[in-house]
Amino acid sequence: MLQIPGNLRYLKAVGITSGFYFYNKEMFSVTRILVNGALGRMGSEVVRTVLKQSDMKLVAAVDIMAKDKTVEGTDLIFDTDLDSALRNTKPDIVVDFTRPDVVMKNLRTILNAGVCAVVGTTGFSQSDMAELDDLAKKNNSGILIAPNFALGAILMMKVACEAAKYFPQIEIIELHHDQKLDAPSGTAILTAKKLAEVRGGFVAQGNPAEEEKLEGARGAEYEGMHIHSVRLPGFVASQEIIFGSAGETLKIRNDSINRECYMPGVMLGCRKIAERKGLVYGLDQLL
Ligand code: NAD
Repeated sequence: MLQIPGNLRYLKAVGITSGFYFYNKEMFSVTRILVNGALGRMGSEVVRTVLKQSDMKLVAAVDIMAKDKTVEGTDLIFDTDLDSALRNTKPDIVVDFTRPDVVMKNLRTILNAGVCAVVGTTGFSQSDMAELDDLAKKNNSGILIAPNFALGAILMMKVACEAAKYFPQIEIIELHHDQKLDAPSGTAILTAKKLAEVRGGFVAQGNPAEEEKLEGARGAEYEGMHIHSVRLPGFVASQEIIFGSAGETLKIRNDSINRECYMPGVMLGCRKIAERKGLVYGLDQLL
């Protein structure tokens, strides 16, 4: 965020700049945003959303696939190089929706430039997250990694944690569009971790003698919980958590119908992450 110069801060404190302050409101409150992966399905939605915010300014749109393209409705030309865009446009925050195989390199560049990051890209390991936490703290920056920015998905996890206290036998089915690269989804992994904490670690499920007639039939496993990944055209992002008990089942399901559902969460992350230092994992930590 732009800093109020010291002398103006003093004048404002003594109450003689209110007219000047309101006249120049933008100068004091506009957050400069760079969107990385700006041509992608999520990145392009973030670009459109940032352009509609009165307290944000889109200073750069970066995508390796961009060539001489202009951001629709603006004079801004897409950049292909993150490093030079950071140096030339000096953003406060980078929003990254790129790919699991390139995101760590991007984030090292962003954090080493002393810039905060709001990250929707999925596919991080525990050691990746430890490295990013260290790097952010060293550079006095905040980084939000949110495997899911949809409010409904966050509530789904919260409600599921309550249900897991009474129904510890759980399986997760996540369903996404067929272009998704990583499986299981970041949301499914985060859900399983949260549920495992409630269950207190490993819980044996199913018949101990069960046998897969086709490899992978029982899905992935986390602390005894099975996770199944569906990839089909037609889905955006859905997840169902099934709780089984004697004589009854309980299902909690969230469906993202289109990518607009993520935008309030991304904007919230942009507004709040500069107040934090180090890694914040999960949007629920900022709500
Ligand atoms: P996409 O393939 O449509 O877009 C990715 C974009 O990144 C592409 O335009 C590509 O050219 C660009 N790109 C690739 N490498 C780059 C690099 N090194 N520098 C700059 N740009 C680069 O993918 P998508 O559907 O927009 O998803 C992006 C990521 O976001 C995925 O990891 C996906 O799982 C995740 N996702 C997260 C959420 C969430 O709520 N956190 C929601 C949806 C998708």
